[in-house]
Amino acid sequence: MSDHAPPPLRYRPHHFLCSLGFQGKGYSDGFTANMSRIVMGRLRAPEGAAELIEVTAAADDICAPCPRRRDIFCESQPKIEALDKAHAAALGLSPGDRLTWGEAQARIRAHVPPGSLMTLCAGCEWEAYGMCEAALSRLHGQD
Ligand code: SF4
Repeated sequence: MSDHAPPPLRYRPHHFLCSLGFQGKGYSDGFTANMSRIVMGRLRAPEGAAELIEVTAAADDICAPCPRRRDIFCESQPKIEALDKAHAAALGLSPGDRLTWGEAQARIRAHVPPGSLMTLCAGCEWEAYGMCEAALSRLHGQD
């Protein structure tokens, strides 16, 4: 990393898949603007695969402006913890791990088959929209 590299993004486990499927929808205008800056502006930029991400067990860079955030927790903490636990197990992630967005996408491709989000993301209000499953299919080259 050069002296001028930005600090790594901080992501809780389930936000790797959220970032794959993000299509500009969110919990508030501020939330959507922040997530767009991170996902469209960094991860999906030409050099985005090299973006470094550090895994955290608490509220992260996506949560920061979320109206549901309560300090380092979420107002839906039990649901969010269940999502994080499932995604951490699927992707082999632990707090403090660092990986690039390219490595994260490779793990998703290796461990999250198309059609699995109904189970993996059970309880997430965005799952039913289908955009995350569509993005997963594109990652697997099946659309
Ligand atoms: S709903 Fe909770 S877990 Fe999701 S972005 Fe907001 S604060 Fe974070």
